[in-house]
Amino acid sequence: MDCIFCKIANGEIASDTVYEDDNFRVILDLSPASKGHMLILPKVHAGDITELSEDIAGKALVLAGKLGKAAMVGLGATGFNTLANTGESAGQTVFHCHIHVIPRYDDASSIV
Ligand code: 5GP
Ligand code: ZN
Repeated sequence: MDCIFCKIANGEIASDTVYEDDNFRVILDLSPASKGHMLILPKVHAGDITELSEDIAGKALVLAGKLGKAAMVGLGATGFNTLANTGESAGQTVFHCHIHVIPRYDDASSIV
């Protein structure tokens, strides 16, 4: 299977990695919606969140919270969105599960 996010998650293709552990690679989005927009990529392929194991889904959500908090402490964000688009009609364009963490700011100039 030719999956670009598998290749990024497993380090075959270089990326702007902000965090990595045994289960996930977290990268900066190529077309960020705000400063620090991150994508959590599970290393094991899943097409979308419905295919994640409970273990990975749970860990991903906990990680999303930590990354969002880090953006608040490190980047000055005042909030963040955590979301996963599932299905083309919902805006999913890459069919390797990924969770967006989008820092939000009081200052609109942080929208890129
Ligand atoms: P989706 O629309 O599937 O929820 O989100 C896909 C996201 O992946 C988009 O925000 C898009 O900008 C980002 N993206 C697509 N291809 C690449 C890539 O090769 N590298 C990075 N860093 N982000 C990508
Ligand atoms: Zn994949």
